Amino acid sequence: MSQEKSEKPKVSIIIPTYNERDNLDELFERISRALSEAGYDFEIVVVDDNSPDRTWEYAEELGKTRGYPVKVIRRVNEKGLSSAVIRGFKEASGDVFVVMDADLQHPPEKIPKLVRAIEEGADIVIASRYVPGGGVRNWYWYRKLISKGAIMIGRVALPKIRNVRDPVSGFFALKREVVENAELNPIGFKILMEILIKGTYKKVVEVPFTFGLRKAGESKLSGKTMINYLKHVYRLMKWEGELDRLIKFSIVGTSGIFVNEGFLWFFVRFLGWSKVWANIPAIELSILNNFTWNDLWTFRDLRKRPLWRRLLSFHAAALTGAAVQMAIYAPLVYIGVHYLIANLIGIAASFIVRFLFNRNVTWG
Ligand code: UDP
Ligand code: MG
Repeated sequence: MSQEKSEKPKVSIIIPTYNERDNLDELFERISRALSEAGYDFEIVVVDDNSPDRTWEYAEELGKTRGYPVKVIRRVNEKGLSSAVIRGFKEASGDVFVVMDADLQHPPEKIPKLVRAIEEGADIVIASRYVPGGGVRNWYWYRKLISKGAIMIGRVALPKIRNVRDPVSGFFALKREVVENAELNPIGFKILMEILIKGTYKKVVEVPFTFGLRKAGESKLSGKTMINYLKHVYRLMKWEGELDRLIKFSIVGTSGIFVNEGFLWFFVRFLGWSKVWANIPAIELSILNNFTWNDLWTFRDLRKRPLWRRLLSFHAAALTGAAVQMAIYAPLVYIGVHYLIANLIGIAASFIVRFLFNRNVTWG
């Protein structure tokens, strides 16, 4: 029995707090019960940004009076959720780290399940709202829509996480090694996404859970969250080299304009072809030009599918882009936008669609 216990990993539960005093009693009690029952040795690492309600003081007090294994870090000069979690990683002594909120929206009873999945071979285990069996309680449809939309943007912009259903969850477990040598950005907005991009790991598992209601106190995260999230996705794209690809893709696209125009001119001027029909081979030649350069340069490292499939898929992307362009152009013109402006907007949309299609399918 005792030997069985010593084989289990020690779990460090990292909890960033700001004015969460009224949640601590229940939080510590439920964590304690869940982990003791499952037979894990654990510690609770509270990282508090010098809360006016003195959360740090109360956490220490509960540790002393009730015997919970609590380690409290009171930060006076630093702020922010991600940097708090990173600090928690540095202070934690366990083999497995669990990150969760203090407000009981993350049920502590799930922790043993997350840790067990790590013991069974996962490196990162996400308590996920968006796998079957998971969900959110009492969210209006538009809040769900925004949440899912944000996740979709992250997944298409960052192909490395495209199979993760809830890459922004605030409730997850990981092996210490995943983050030990990672250069995590403390201003990163969603720490899990930061870890999924920069951490060292092989296997990610998602375990369903229901994101509950805040027990006491109020939410500190709103307002500028969407903008901050997009900035974070942008920074991670840059870090991943995906932004370089985007730039290369646009350079290649620009070269395609010259090829298209050049051949159109040549066919009409020198071969005497009809101005309308001559553009079909001219367009096709520009597509072939773009394909060649993207294949040899932009996505050189991602040539996994057979050549004919890449070529076919690239054409499908071009066609989809054209359809999107028209679908935006026509209604804009209809509502009175100048047709050249309308087309520019259409081209921009087509560009994004084609890039994402090619990045995720053609060279996915
Ligand atoms: N938090 C924190 N520092 C901050 C903002 C939030 O430590 O600057 C903590 C907060 O106390 C809670 C967790 O991060 O434990 C999640 O915050 P919150 O519940 O306000 O976010 P929401 O669930 O509303 O998105
Ligand atoms: Mg919350």
